[in-house]
Amino acid sequence: MNIRRFITAAFIVALLPLCAAAQQQVASPAPAPTVSFFVLKPLGHNVWSAVAVPGSGAGSNSGFVVGDDGVLVVDSFQKADAARALLAEIHKITPLPVKYVVNTHYHIDHVSGNGVYAEAGAVIVAQRNVRDWIHTENLKFYGANITPAQKASVEGLTGPQAAYDGSLDLYLGARRISVRYFPGHTGGDSVVFIEDANVVFCGDLFWRHTLPNLIDASTADWIATLTTLTKTHPGAAFVSGHGDAGTSDDVDAFRGYLTDLRRLVAEGRTAGKSGDALVDELTPKLKETYGQWSAFNVFVKRNITDTDAELAGTKKIPRPAASSN
Ligand SMILES: [Zn+2]
Repeated sequence: MNIRRFITAAFIVALLPLCAAAQQQVASPAPAPTVSFFVLKPLGHNVWSAVAVPGSGAGSNSGFVVGDDGVLVVDSFQKADAARALLAEIHKITPLPVKYVVNTHYHIDHVSGNGVYAEAGAVIVAQRNVRDWIHTENLKFYGANITPAQKASVEGLTGPQAAYDGSLDLYLGARRISVRYFPGHTGGDSVVFIEDANVVFCGDLFWRHTLPNLIDASTADWIATLTTLTKTHPGAAFVSGHGDAGTSDDVDAFRGYLTDLRRLVAEGRTAGKSGDALVDELTPKLKETYGQWSAFNVFVKRNITDTDAELAGTKKIPRPAASSN
């Protein structure tokens, strides 16, 4: 089985037990079926996170901010049905329209509901590289044996209609939402700052107590990005791409994981280790500190081999299209 396909499948399977636990947590007397994809959590000042229920098919977290004249949504889940469910929840909270959807990056678990919002009149916004990669790089998650239907679904995703390079301010009336490019996870990631609520939507630049997918990662850049985020927003609520929202301490803990991983891989390489020997040596060391994190068993081996390739300079990461899009 193709390794990436395996990881995707294994990741979903690994999180199924969490799904049961999470569903118990939200099992108030008669939970509406429309909210089973996610748990809505108010973050104050008309900002909400929608934390994915593992195994529900939502795939990743989302969230939204209500401004003076409209709503901005961050990410659109792995399933259009999950986006429809969130749109229904938004309509219960406000009659204002969704004006913007920001895709924090191109990965399929964050963009598959774009069409739902576009049909409702929203403008899909992302860093420029997402416009190309959403229809190309997402194909790899299906592996070499991708079916025609899967290929068509990726190519049919609604891409960003507005693209920016380094920074963009969006306004919902007087309310300003700051969208900023940060490197590390894919090379096309946006962080969404709601400064008047002290909320930072990190997308997959932050995984709370969860091992990350490093398939496109540049970990040195990523570590620097996380340092910047916590230094500039020490008291903020940080919404992760996977896992619950957290504090700057949680972001620091995640940065600690990437730092430890990089250091251990570098030490192993200096000692002449590579391949399975490197994985066998480092897995128990990482397990000591991070064994309780979600997806540890799913991603630890791949995290080690990805970082080994990165330090060797052989890692294939997405590159911006040669032609301007
Ligand atoms: Zn994700």
